[in-house]
Amino acid sequence: MEVKDNVDAQAAMQEEEKGKDAERARWYTDTILQSELADYSPVKGCMVIRPYGYALWEQIQKALDQMIKDTGHSNAYFPMFIPESFMTKEKEHVEGFAPECAVVTHGGGKKLEEPLIVRPTSETIINYMFAKWVQSWRDLPLLINQWANVVRWEMRTRLFLRTTEFLWQEGHTAHATEQEAEEEAQRMLGVYKDFAENWMALPVLTGEKTENERFAGAVRTYCIEALMRDAKALQAGTSHFLGQNFAKAFEIKFQSAEGGLEFAWQTSWGVSTRLVGAIILGHGDEKGLILPPKLAPIQVVIVPIYKTDEDKATVFERCQQIHDLLKPSVRVHFDKREQHTPGWKFNHWEQKGVPIRLNVGPKDVAGNVVEVARRDTGEKIRGVAMSGLENEVAGLLTAVQKNIFERAVAFRKENTRQLTEYGEFKSTMEEKYGFVEANWCGASSCEASIKEETKATIRVIPFDWQPQDGKCIRCGGASTKRVVFAKAY
Ligand SMILES: [Zn+2]
Repeated sequence: MEVKDNVDAQAAMQEEEKGKDAERARWYTDTILQSELADYSPVKGCMVIRPYGYALWEQIQKALDQMIKDTGHSNAYFPMFIPESFMTKEKEHVEGFAPECAVVTHGGGKKLEEPLIVRPTSETIINYMFAKWVQSWRDLPLLINQWANVVRWEMRTRLFLRTTEFLWQEGHTAHATEQEAEEEAQRMLGVYKDFAENWMALPVLTGEKTENERFAGAVRTYCIEALMRDAKALQAGTSHFLGQNFAKAFEIKFQSAEGGLEFAWQTSWGVSTRLVGAIILGHGDEKGLILPPKLAPIQVVIVPIYKTDEDKATVFERCQQIHDLLKPSVRVHFDKREQHTPGWKFNHWEQKGVPIRLNVGPKDVAGNVVEVARRDTGEKIRGVAMSGLENEVAGLLTAVQKNIFERAVAFRKENTRQLTEYGEFKSTMEEKYGFVEANWCGASSCEASIKEETKATIRVIPFDWQPQDGKCIRCGGASTKRVVFAKAY
């Protein structure tokens, strides 16, 4: 019954969306199910990440974890249950998160004295511990990261993009000065940008969120925003400068070098399994996934082609030889299954987004060559010599990574417009989508009207943009503030 409800919820969401949005939503769901990244679960709003999807998440984790460690952070683990009283200590934080909290009221067959919140994020419990650990300026900075699951009770869910339970990493830091905390928040945003562009092959805009879109309890929220292939935006990661809000709520005080007692300055930052959704929507095409080589669980797949048993023996031997040759440097898979035809396998691996496919038939064996197929361009290169194949493959993987990044950059450029007329703004948001750069007066009321009338939101106030004289796109009031609008996931 729940399974049906869950599928119905997804169907209802797709029905609400019209035309190309609905088509794209169907494509997204079908691609995930058919490429076996994830499946619906019997628990409403929650998904099962299947082995192929989890392998992709593991690649993301591995690369990002190293980057987090290289910037001085250590991993730790905190309980998933948070005493209810902790959540209420920071006023804005509880107001922001209370509506989506799951609450445990019973344990061991008894009603609990104090209900426990299943973490929607861990600022409160981590800062409770920070208060114990931070006594002196010598204890700072404290740089912690946690890989964990969190729960936010979502009414409208979508695989990887918005699920009730999801996996993520959350960084939490405490610093002696405001400047150090600010630098940290921006440094980690820089790490996310680096990861998005150099690993996921997705260009991102960086900047600050408006007050309306700010993390509950933060002073400033920074984000990376990517443009998907349907020209809708996706927030792919956030980094928050928390000021002293949580330090005051949890009494994280330290003896300064000068001898005074001061509150710590803090940050938090996170990315989640949503990144998998970004990769699917940012690169995929009508055939299915296109995975960036640096993160693909399988970078190269080898498909044997033969008709007779005699051919099979020589072809298999060669495929195994190629597999063993590439194994030390590449994530390679030899598809030995006999129940499927080569044509079926071609479609299968294309759908799963494997960057490079090597086709090996009897003539290739005889000629000491292989046929190479690229997933990103569909190009087939015949007669690639066996000698030096590992270098050829390494070069191609680099080329695919570069090509899909450049393609995404070009797509974003084509779909970024500078507008001054609200009429044009509205029709763009109805038909073309994309990023729209425009002036905004800074009033929340204008931001809200635009959202109401066009479903577009201010995605980001870019860091490096100079003030530019103009008129607010909505009210026509004088404005120097340039911002980026888009319809977003
Ligand atoms: Zn205005």
